[in-house]
Amino acid sequence: MKTVLITGANKGIGLETAKQLAGLGYFVYLGSRDKQQGLKAVEKLNALGLANVDAVQLDVTNLASVQQARKELEAKLDALNILINNAGIAGHQSQTFRAGDMTNLRQLFETNFFGAVQTTQQFIPLLEKAAHPVIVNVSSEVGSLTMQSSAAKRANWALFSAYGSSKTALNAFTIMLANELKNTAFRVNSVTPGYTATDLNGHQGLKTAAEGARSIVHVATLGDELTTGKFYQDRGEVAW
Ligand code: NAP
Repeated sequence: MKTVLITGANKGIGLETAKQLAGLGYFVYLGSRDKQQGLKAVEKLNALGLANVDAVQLDVTNLASVQQARKELEAKLDALNILINNAGIAGHQSQTFRAGDMTNLRQLFETNFFGAVQTTQQFIPLLEKAAHPVIVNVSSEVGSLTMQSSAAKRANWALFSAYGSSKTALNAFTIMLANELKNTAFRVNSVTPGYTATDLNGHQGLKTAAEGARSIVHVATLGDELTTGKFYQDRGEVAW
């Protein structure tokens, strides 16, 4: 059975992604910084008849926690097929570069960028053991420099300057890691779920978590097509 690790999978889009991938027959490890929340999420999936799931404690900002999760999975698995770097925070307002809170900006990068990089570094050795390892970075359209620089978007997206720039950095990570791994079987892509109703935005988003997760599942399961270093939404490509 192919295996998946999803960070931040105890709720929201991460939990829905776990549900959909477990439904497709993958064994899914739900990364959760609070193990109890992870176990509760596993119970919810078990209640739906999905037994092929388990929880693993994983705080992406804490190297010791990521290393412990790696040890646990290495003891159980021959290979990890898919890593989904989904854990993310939105930060608080104001997010302007002109006057926004520097601590907020640093925390956003700590989780959304450094967290994904250090989790990936730790799991590459286990991913390498799979025939076609897949890394999916859950990004956002507010991280797209093309969209940020379009006149239509300029007006109100300053609301997300700090969050958006952390996702731009995550996108850079996607492209550069894909380049580093271009002579291997790895596929590394970014995907945005789109504006989705979750705790992240006080459930203001327009998509359901299930709809948001669908884009991620599509990219995670692209099959053996050699697609790498791309940015996706709803099965199509998004401009970087
Ligand atoms: P959510 O419901 O708030 O879920 C975020 C998840 O990330 C939670 O499980 C949270 O855990 C976890 N997390 C936060 N910090 C973490 C850390 N240090 N270590 C491990 N896990 C951590 O938000 P969501 O909307 O599902 O977001 C999932 C991803 O989609 C994020 O990367 C977000 O940026 C991205 N995204 C969302 C939208 C949207 O409209 N919702 C749009 C574009 C992109 P706790 O429960 O412990 O807090």
